[in-house]
Amino acid sequence: MVLKINGLTLALGEREDLLPARVAALLGLSEGAITDLRVIRRSIDVRRSRPPRFVFLLAVRLVDGVGWRPSPGRNASGVSVTEAPDIPEKPQGPSGGVLNPGRRPVVAGCGPAGLFAALTLAANGMPVLLLERGKAVPERLSDVRAFWETGVLNPESHVHFGEGGAGTFSDGKLTTRVKNPYTAWVKRVLADMGAPADILTDARSHIGTDRLREIVVNLRHRLIGMGCEIRFGAHVTDFLIRQRKLVGIIVNDSEEIRADRLILATGQSAADTYRKLAERGVALGPKAFAVGLRIEHPQESINRIQYGRWAGHPDLSPADYFLTAKIKALNRSVYSFCMCPGGMVIGCSAEAGGVITNGMSRFRRDSPYANSAVVVNVRVEDLGGEGPLAGLAFRRHWEERAFRAGGGDYCAPVQRLTDFLAGKDHSPIGRCSFLPGVREADLRDVLPPFVVEALKRGFAEFERKMPGFITGEAHLIGVETRTSSPVRILRGEDGQGVNVAGLFPCGEGAGYAGGIVSSALDGIRAAERIKASMGTDFKSVPIDACPH
Ligand SMILES: Cc1cc2nc3c(=O)[nH]c(=O)nc-3n(C[C@H](O)[C@H](O)[C@H](O)COP(=O)(O)OP(=O)(O)OC[C@H]3O[C@@H](n4cnc5c(N)ncnc54)[C@H](O)[C@@H]3O)c2cc1C
Repeated sequence: MVLKINGLTLALGEREDLLPARVAALLGLSEGAITDLRVIRRSIDVRRSRPPRFVFLLAVRLVDGVGWRPSPGRNASGVSVTEAPDIPEKPQGPSGGVLNPGRRPVVAGCGPAGLFAALTLAANGMPVLLLERGKAVPERLSDVRAFWETGVLNPESHVHFGEGGAGTFSDGKLTTRVKNPYTAWVKRVLADMGAPADILTDARSHIGTDRLREIVVNLRHRLIGMGCEIRFGAHVTDFLIRQRKLVGIIVNDSEEIRADRLILATGQSAADTYRKLAERGVALGPKAFAVGLRIEHPQESINRIQYGRWAGHPDLSPADYFLTAKIKALNRSVYSFCMCPGGMVIGCSAEAGGVITNGMSRFRRDSPYANSAVVVNVRVEDLGGEGPLAGLAFRRHWEERAFRAGGGDYCAPVQRLTDFLAGKDHSPIGRCSFLPGVREADLRDVLPPFVVEALKRGFAEFERKMPGFITGEAHLIGVETRTSSPVRILRGEDGQGVNVAGLFPCGEGAGYAGGIVSSALDGIRAAERIKASMGTDFKSVPIDACPH
C-alpha cells in the first residue's frame, strides 16, 4: 500500500532522517512497517507569529499486508493522509519514434525553449540543426564580464544572447505557475545535467548562475551526442516564405538553409527578428507586460523581517518575499517579481544606448544583498504607438531614458527608496551591487508617470504587509522592462504561425511563456506539434526521452 502524506513538518534543527519515525508515529505503526519513503516536495512555512518550519509532501510504501484506512481531511496538526496509486516513477518526457524524418527540423535560439525543443525532437529520432546568434558559454562569459567591468557592450553577445539564452545569467529559479505533466521531466533533465538534486523536491527551487553555466554546456554535449548540430554565431536574419509556407531561412544575411519546419525560440530581446517577421507578413500582435525598477535591500534586513528572531539560523536559506498590491484608485497592479535572495542586480543592456536591470545569484546565494523587481502592469492601450511592435518602441524609450540618467556609459540610475517616495532630490546612496555601476538620479524621470504613481502606492502597501520594507537602506535601480515579451507571434492550435505553415514560434519571445521552466515546456510543446504535423510519417514507439 502507498500513502500520500501532506503537511508533515520538521522544526528548525531537525534532520530529514527523522521522517520515518515521524511517519510511523503519525500512522501508529512501527518504523519497520515502512519500506520506502520519498520526499515529493519540501517547502518552508514562514509566518512571523511562530518559528519557521519545513513542510513535506511524502509518498510512503507500507510492508505488504499492513493495512491503513485513510481518514478524510487533515488531522489537528494539519496533516492529511490519502491512499496513492504508487510511488511516483522517474518522470518521463514525451516519447515516440519517427519513420521518415524527411528534412531535419531547424531550431533558432539556444535558450530554454530551443534547448528543450531540440532535446525532445532528438530523443524522438529527429536530431535538429540548432542555430544561435550568440556565443558558447565560455566566450559569452568573457563578453558579459567585459561589459560589467568596462561598460563595453557587444550587441551580439550579452546577458540575453548566447548559449543558454536569457536564463544563463540568472538566479535560475524554477518556479512556475504552469501546470504541465512534463515539469518534473524538465527538472530531472536539469538535475541529470548537473543541477543540485534538491530542485526535484524543493517547492521554490533555484540553480544559480554558476551551476547553470555548466548545465547548458553539458546539455549541448548531450544534444551533439544525440546527433544534433549546433552552430553559434548563426543569426537567423530572414525567413523565406512561399504561398504561406516556410521554405527556408537566411543566416547571417548570406547563407540560405532550406527548412520546412522551424522552431522559432528567439526570446523577447531579438527586436530585429520581430521586425523581420513583421516585414515578411508573419501575423504578430501587441501584448501586455510590466515595467518598473529593481529594489535592493541588505539581505540581513530581509532575513530579520521574514524570520524574526530566527534570522541567522543555519538551517534557513536567505529569505525571500513575494508581494502584490492592487491599486484600485489607479486600476493597476504592483508586484514583486523574480526575487533574488543573496544575489546581485546586473546590467542587462541588449542594445546600444539602453540600460536594463535584472537580478542574478549564485547557487549559494551568498551575496549580502537581496533584490527583486517591483513592476506595474502595462496594458496594450498604454503603448501609445500603433501596430504589433508598439511595445518594442515603448520599452526602448524608457531604457534610453535610463541610459541618459545613468550618465550614458551603461551605469544605471539609482535612488534611495525613501527619497523616491518623498519626491526629494536624490541624496548619496550606500553600497549597491549593480554592475557595471550606478549614478544617483531621480527615478521618476525614467518611468511613465502612471508607473511612478502606482509604485509609490504599491510600496506603501508592501510596507503594511512586510513592516520594515521601506527603509533608507533600500535602493531603487532603473529600469526593469524585460519582464515578458511585449509582442506575440500569433500561432494556431497546431502550434504553427496562423498565416505561415512550418513556422513554430515558442518560448518567451512568442509571447506564450515567461521564465525558464515555462519556456522549456513551451519548447517541448512545439516539438510535439512538429511530431503531430508529420501525420502518418510519425509512428509512436516508446523510448527514453533522455537516454544516457
Ligand atoms: C538576468 C535574468 C534573470 C532571470 N532570472 C530568471 C529566473 O530566476 N527564473 C526564471 O524562470 N526566469 C528568469 N529569467 C527569465 C528567463 O531567463 C526567460 O524567461 C527564458 O530564458 C526565456 O527562454 P526562451 O528560450 O524563450 O528565450 P531566451 O532565453 O531569451 O533565448 C533566446 C535565444 O535565442 C537567440 N536568438 C535571438 N534571436 C535569434 C536569431 N534571430 N537567430 C538565432 N538565435 C537568436 C538568443 O541569442 C537567445 O540565446 C531571467 C532573465 C534574465 C535576463
